[in-house]
Amino acid sequence: IFITIEGGEGAGKSTLIEQLSNIMLQRGVAVITTREPGGIPISEQIRGVILDRSHTAMDARTEALLYAAARRQHLVEKVAPALEQGLMVICDRFVDSSLAYQGHARGLGMDEVWSINQFAIQEFMPDLTIYMDISPDIGLKRIADASEREINRLDLEKHSFHEKVREGYLQLLQQNPDRMVLIDAEQRPEMVFNDVLEAIDSRFAG
Ligand code: C5P
Repeated sequence: IFITIEGGEGAGKSTLIEQLSNIMLQRGVAVITTREPGGIPISEQIRGVILDRSHTAMDARTEALLYAAARRQHLVEKVAPALEQGLMVICDRFVDSSLAYQGHARGLGMDEVWSINQFAIQEFMPDLTIYMDISPDIGLKRIADASEREINRLDLEKHSFHEKVREGYLQLLQQNPDRMVLIDAEQRPEMVFNDVLEAIDSRFAG
């Protein structure tokens, strides 16, 4: 079972993934968690290039290609083999991030970004995608309050960018109602966790 977690800044993806991993292990489910861009050395290196704040001249298409390249390597080296072994894989971000961030918010167009990602993932898609929905006002404030989190170039970007990211995700949800579930990430963490677990259990029960 391949589950991806999506959402904007400060939505609480990392905390959620840790909680999910713990409960699955308690239940005796063999699970691994990983993240994009990254998860394996080649892709972590690509992540470093993408998120390096000194690379101010990075072109939007270059950026989209790098995300797709990191995704490809991570998929063939880590995600696909784990799924073949029967593990549950919970991944922080996947193709929907590229569609929402590069496709919609950066303005490359979701169709164009989808086409390079199709090349990269060869129609390999998650069984379930949890979208953690939060208003940028609240999400960005959470990040500002959490001093230990790495501040990267995109955190510093305008509020309007993050509004567009959210808009992109909401479009994806409309287009993929069977695969994607919206979770209200503005609720208390326990409530968020309950909602997510319910979404997973109702999907894969039995
Ligand atoms: O998930 P995480 O917060 O670690 O993502 C790292 C950064 O990369 C974030 O600032 C996120 O907004 C950005 N990102 C992006 N396009 C993607 C995936 C992530 O701009 N496709």
